[in-house]
Amino acid sequence: MAKKFQNFINGRWVDAASGKTFENRNPARWDEVVGVFPLSGKEDVEAAVRAAREAFETWRLVPAPKRGDIMRAVGDLMVARKEDLARQMTREMGKVLAETRGDVQEGIDTAYYAGGEGRRLFGHTVPSELRDKFNMALRVPIGVAGIVTPWNFPMAIPTWKIFPALLCGNTVVFKPASDTPATATALVEILAEAGVPPGVVNIVHGGGGEVGTAIVGHPDVDCVSFTGSTQVGKTIAETAARTLKRVSLELGGKNAQIVMDDADLSLALEGVLWGAFGTTGQRCTATSRLILHEKIHEKFLAMLVDRVRKLRLGDGLLPSTDVGPCVNKGQQETVAGYVRIGLEQGATLLTGGTVPKGEGLDGGWFYAPTVFAGVKPDHRIAREEIFGPVLSVLKAGSLAEAVTILNDTIYGLSSSIYTANIDAAFRAIRDVRAGITYINAPTIGAEAHMPFGGVKQTGNGHREGGWTVYDFFSEWKTVYVDYSGGLQRAQIDNYAK
Ligand code: NAD
Repeated sequence: MAKKFQNFINGRWVDAASGKTFENRNPARWDEVVGVFPLSGKEDVEAAVRAAREAFETWRLVPAPKRGDIMRAVGDLMVARKEDLARQMTREMGKVLAETRGDVQEGIDTAYYAGGEGRRLFGHTVPSELRDKFNMALRVPIGVAGIVTPWNFPMAIPTWKIFPALLCGNTVVFKPASDTPATATALVEILAEAGVPPGVVNIVHGGGGEVGTAIVGHPDVDCVSFTGSTQVGKTIAETAARTLKRVSLELGGKNAQIVMDDADLSLALEGVLWGAFGTTGQRCTATSRLILHEKIHEKFLAMLVDRVRKLRLGDGLLPSTDVGPCVNKGQQETVAGYVRIGLEQGATLLTGGTVPKGEGLDGGWFYAPTVFAGVKPDHRIAREEIFGPVLSVLKAGSLAEAVTILNDTIYGLSSSIYTANIDAAFRAIRDVRAGITYINAPTIGAEAHMPFGGVKQTGNGHREGGWTVYDFFSEWKTVYVDYSGGLQRAQIDNYAK
């Protein structure tokens, strides 16, 4: 019998009001059911928002350092359960164990950062233009935060949002991706165990169209933090605009790595292998395009193809596995579809391009790591997010041309350049239009205490991570205290003429 999971609303574990359920399966062994989850609807969202709204009135009064203490306890529980959480995550979404351990670690880092922030949450004191008057600006919570997340970082991304939201004094209604509900449930269990009071965190499982839409459109949800595809992000922005709620959108990417002719090619090779095929290419920061200087183009391609062919596909729980499966059948079909498009548009398939068979791969959604050369900037595989193990290689004659190709996309999340030339590195830092630029490192590898997010259609200008996410989850309240005993008029009394 598969394990049965529930929603968590107002401190109680409950089924969906309709009683309906959905299954979550292991993408490496599709006959293995990870769990059965509530297929929730509008009425479940309604109950969760009501609970969060009520709990807000007490949670907002808990001193921030106390909220920080709870966040530290959350971090401690995550440390104690790291291995179990990682294994469960690999079972439900497929990436290899080293990566799911890293995913949990990112949550731990975020918890301890939030713990410390409880004793900071700095505001500003600023001199007044008038005598005997005191000016300050304080951070205050916003209210109920709707949190909607994708499946590819099922622990890290929810923690990036939920921990700062709580630390700032907001309450939360959380809808995780339906491909990764078990990891999300484990996170909520930890929050409750660490002392988050009833109603402060609520989880409602189910589909984006029902549960996600109901959260985003709810008039009592004050802000929404969403990570997912650009397409869904646009719908969310439109829906949220009707109630003018604050929205943070972290969306798709089409990230590129440049390799210049003076680069350390072995280092650049390790970088692109990790960037393109880590998490089976299913990262918003995955290296989807490789831009090679023409002088090293042939040599680097030969090195690359040799190594890509040696990558071992398999169940992420096995130590021998380099690359796990796609998360589900739909994602595998999307990848296969883009490979067909690449061939039709005239790119050269160097390796991969197949659904592998045998050797324990038949029961999962595997796709062979794939490299296309001869890709032109107007090819669809150079422009559209594939979200799978497919790398498109383009050629450039100079740094300026490489940067132009890199910038020729509607997205702007991560970017990378390998070069030994410091001038080239700084030109790239200046000219590349992306939220993140790595020098001599791959496009993936965010650290929890640094701002994270993208420009152009990768987002709407907010940042997760580090200190910047606290700006999203708090409002500024400006306070003036006049202790002069008389009426003082700003702009007027000091400047009478
Ligand atoms: P998705 O957009 O399909 O789904 C994300 C979440 O939104 C899920 O929980 C889903 O159920 C929900 N959802 C779907 N439709 C909705 C709607 N109409 N209203 C409200 N919620 C809705 O994305 P995905 O397939 O889960 O994840 C992959 C995508 O996420 C990729 O495009 C990837 O680049 C992006 N991503 C971005 C970042 C980032 O930080 N920029 C990080 C990870 C993933």
